[in-house]
Amino acid sequence: MPLEPFFAAPGIDRADALRNRPEVVAALRAQANARALRWADGVPALDPAGALTWEAVTGDEPLFLGLEEGAPRFAALPKSAGGVEARAVLGQLDPTDAPLFAAALSLSSWHVRHGYCSVCGSPSVIFRGGWARRCDICAAEHYPRVDPVVIMLVTFEDRLLLGRQPIYPPRRYSALAGFVEPGETIEGAVERELHEEAGIKVADVRYLTSQPWPFPSSLMIGCSATATGDALTVDHDELDDARWFTRAEAIAALAGDPAAPFLPPPRFAIARTLLDHWIGDA
Ligand SMILES: [Zn+2]
Repeated sequence: MPLEPFFAAPGIDRADALRNRPEVVAALRAQANARALRWADGVPALDPAGALTWEAVTGDEPLFLGLEEGAPRFAALPKSAGGVEARAVLGQLDPTDAPLFAAALSLSSWHVRHGYCSVCGSPSVIFRGGWARRCDICAAEHYPRVDPVVIMLVTFEDRLLLGRQPIYPPRRYSALAGFVEPGETIEGAVERELHEEAGIKVADVRYLTSQPWPFPSSLMIGCSATATGDALTVDHDELDDARWFTRAEAIAALAGDPAAPFLPPPRFAIARTLLDHWIGDA
């Protein structure tokens, strides 16, 4: 089964080469086909079909998102950073617009939260078409952060390990995940997280696919791994539960069978992509 994460669409031309040319960005903003992203409560606003919505530029849009079929796309900064509610919008979002939704939400959240220089504490200003901030006092440059997270499809003798976080809806189980720490490889993070959260050792860690998760700035790195044993020691500070599920149980869950032993993650989560891949891989 092909791995097609919800955020895997090509997205728009980010036009990086133009970002550092303010006169070019100003000319793009003046074009008749330039548009500005509409916001609703700190989240990109969607039309009834789930597409992003656009309005005329006013000149007050510091973020140059790129070129959509040649048409310049800009965004103002929302008054507040998108909160947890932003995830609820994903259920309506058209996957074609998912990459631009992620870029606009993550980039704008970063600006709203990083108005001051982390070196000297002075107010910083936007440059590079909105893809960086600069401190005019100490000359430091700051770039939007991307936080790598490993998320794991762990198997042992044709069973799959899934866990429950306390914040999940009732009966939901999903793939175990955790942030990569400074100085760590992706493989090292997979091995450490599984040992910490489930008390297991794994071998044969492989990269499968990735997707952005703009809440606010994660990059989910989907991996597979094979456990060397099935005895679990669950870290109950992190998880309510972790269990092995058979392929038949996973197939029933993904088919929406009410008798299935768990509810799967939603389609926009990379964990769902990994589960779909596993049951299609028999
Ligand atoms: Zn500074």
